[in-house]
Amino acid sequence: MFILVANLGSTSFKYRLFDMTDERLLARGGVERIGSDKSRSFVQVGEQRAENEQRVADHAEAVRICLDHLVELGCLQTPDDLAGIGFKAVHAEGVTGVHRIDERVLEAMESYADVAPAHNPPYVAAMRLLAERLPAIPLVAAFETGFHETIPPALRHYAVPKEWADQFGIKRWGFHGASHRYIAERAAALLQNPKAKIISCHLGGSSSLCAIEAGKSVANSLGMSPQSGLPHNNRVGDFDPFALPAIMRATRKPLEEILEDLASRSGLLGLSGSSNDLRDIEAAAKKGDARAQLALDVFVASVRQYLGAYLLLLNGADAIVFTGGIGENSATIRAAVCDRLDWFGIALDPACNLAASGETPIHDRTSRVQIWTMPTNEELIVARQTREWLLRSSQSTG
Ligand code: ADP
Repeated sequence: MFILVANLGSTSFKYRLFDMTDERLLARGGVERIGSDKSRSFVQVGEQRAENEQRVADHAEAVRICLDHLVELGCLQTPDDLAGIGFKAVHAEGVTGVHRIDERVLEAMESYADVAPAHNPPYVAAMRLLAERLPAIPLVAAFETGFHETIPPALRHYAVPKEWADQFGIKRWGFHGASHRYIAERAAALLQNPKAKIISCHLGGSSSLCAIEAGKSVANSLGMSPQSGLPHNNRVGDFDPFALPAIMRATRKPLEEILEDLASRSGLLGLSGSSNDLRDIEAAAKKGDARAQLALDVFVASVRQYLGAYLLLLNGADAIVFTGGIGENSATIRAAVCDRLDWFGIALDPACNLAASGETPIHDRTSRVQIWTMPTNEELIVARQTREWLLRSSQSTG
């Protein structure tokens, strides 16, 4: 069974093609700058990479071009070989889990365009186009919130009138589900302990911590929206809503503009004032830039607050796992997060931490808790969820 997992941006379409009989990654590719005269498509099969510049009008044309490439390269015999396209979808009103993308799901995602402003609008536009123009290919959405359905009520509810949760879904949904699910499964396998208590630290463009016990999410730092929890590259993280009237008075900006500031000009970018990329911020801090240093300090302090909370929640941990662009690559951030945890018996091995690449244990041999760097594989999780959905739906119709 061939499944394509799509990653959509407003002007980009990227994919990975899996043969799900053995979960093999066959190809990856995509199209960038969709809609411009400089659209560029690319495809990579093993070490072989091909690129092409041609105008690609929209996402449906981009998918068609990618399918043609995959046929030319022998990954598929015909485009009809594709069993379905899976999407890592973020948030929809009243919808979680895995669903065929139909008008009901699209409308539910559209209703939360302002709750997930960076994610939902480009996804809905592209999904609607694909559903219209490629009706023969099943499109399946695996929502990020699905993995967190096991979070208990005490950690799901905000202390607001309970009807808001019951009637309007105002609660901590949690996100990054595909990544944390992958880390839960992979770490349990590496530790050879299906009941392992794991704290998964996905630190990247968006960041979140997840407390996992026996493969299930019991807490996630992301709440009602992907703007919450830790500071993100340009999104705010946890914030007091009662600051809003004060900002509105002081800046005379309408609420929508301030929400836009919080969703795209805050986080590491807002604090540092210079970049949303941690590499730039680390370089600036090294040169003595105080704002860049503050951005790093706020980020690390926030990770440590959730780490401390989750150590308590789980009554200890078997492993702390770092993943995501920052988690995998920044030895400095990992060292700062794990600094002075000797009371917990948690200790990094500084040399292993510096040299880490890919799946690597980085704890000192005296540490009570293992510490790992681990590349995540959200696409594989979405491919598995899409396969399960397709098998279930063929059983129920067959
Ligand atoms: P996304 O959440 O958008 O998928 P990633 O997980 O790829 O993003 O993380 C991207 C972030 O990872 C970048 O913004 C950058 O700050 C950080 N990053 C990537 N490589 C490094 C590195 N070598 N050192 C420090 N930070 C890095």
